[in-house]
Amino acid sequence: MSAPETRAVIDMLEKERPGGSRFVGGCVRNALLDTPVADVDISTQILPQRVLDIARSAGLKAIPTGLEHGTITVVFGGVPYEITTLRKDVATDGRRAVVEFSERWEEDAQRRDFRLNALYADFHGKIHDPTGGLEDLEERRFVFVGDARKRIREDYLRTLRLFRFQAWYGQGDPDEVAISAAYELRDGLSTLSVERVWSELKKLLAAPDPGRAIELMQAGGILNQLIGVNGSLRVLSAIIDQDNDYGLAPDALLRFVALADGGPERMRTMAANLKMSNAEVQRLQGAVDPSAREDVHGAFGDLAAAERAIMALGAQAFEDQARLAAAGETAPPPRDWRLLAKFAAEWKQPDFPVNGGDLILMGYEPGPMLGDALDELKAHWIAERFEPSKDELLARLKQ
Ligand code: ATP
Ligand code: MG
Repeated sequence: MSAPETRAVIDMLEKERPGGSRFVGGCVRNALLDTPVADVDISTQILPQRVLDIARSAGLKAIPTGLEHGTITVVFGGVPYEITTLRKDVATDGRRAVVEFSERWEEDAQRRDFRLNALYADFHGKIHDPTGGLEDLEERRFVFVGDARKRIREDYLRTLRLFRFQAWYGQGDPDEVAISAAYELRDGLSTLSVERVWSELKKLLAAPDPGRAIELMQAGGILNQLIGVNGSLRVLSAIIDQDNDYGLAPDALLRFVALADGGPERMRTMAANLKMSNAEVQRLQGAVDPSAREDVHGAFGDLAAAERAIMALGAQAFEDQARLAAAGETAPPPRDWRLLAKFAAEWKQPDFPVNGGDLILMGYEPGPMLGDALDELKAHWIAERFEPSKDELLARLKQ
């Protein structure tokens, strides 16, 4: 609230209608949990068109993100402020809701997903709690506003949000009513777009320690419903431990590979089903590419094997595979994949000194024979740690 950007937004809203706007949602929740705030949501009694007008006359950049749903995004100093007029639901159909604007905070609170997400802070910093969210703050659990089954049926995304928030902020036992409603209604998840599912899964996996939430999702068949397998927690837990041990930022994609626990075939299917981006597909496929498996395992004791594997896979896939291999170890001590990752990042791949033209000059015809001969030479050159010169390699061909 003391940030100059926030002050400017507050001043603009207060001038229009004193006491008519409050912070809500994640920013209030996270401030109370003493964790960083991602984006700032504000709810207001001012109508959306008016918010747009006053923001623009105050010289702020304002985007009518969802004018008909009442949301205006004001960007100030790179920080987005989502300002939404108080609403009540008049109809819901699984994902899209028909809303009416309202003057009443209680009505606005009733349509929010969890009691912890329905806390309001006025511009004096006073907390307003129309649904009992402060109780959940102590327990660090997520309880639906109203009837859990009804709220999930209105919008199945709420099931994913439940596990995501549980992963990020939950502690101890989750709310049993919420979890069993999510289990009971898991079939409804198939109504969500796969893009939505994938983006939620990534957010969930990026939590510092999503292990417990994943376990809950497995237990209720939620993961199976979402990605077609229940996944394995063993390697995932070890990857999470690596992050914690070395203070690394969570890597949602690598964690997904660990969780999915499958080979190239399964990865391909999942990537297609979840409509992953090309870059994501590439990363996943590199991480399970079996073509240099022996060298990846050998790399821990033999830098020549590391070089061959990096050459075959590229630095990123090599690092991913080394991490996964170390995570898959059952007996301590864990092998040091970090040295290998550093080696891979710094290693400069030497240029293969021979090309097709050289072979044609020696009398080869363009075609498969030439290709095979080049491959054979390259394999020899790699096996000899890139030491043979062009002349030595060509001499080998003549033999
Ligand atoms: P974060 O931004 O940290 O991911 P958040 O709680 O702010 O968490 P947003 O998606 O930014 O989540 O939504 C802001 C608020 O809007 C939520 O706190 C909640 O009150 C409400 N909300 C968002 N999505 C839903 C939904 N699907 N159903 C009901 N209420 C929702
Ligand atoms: Mg938010």
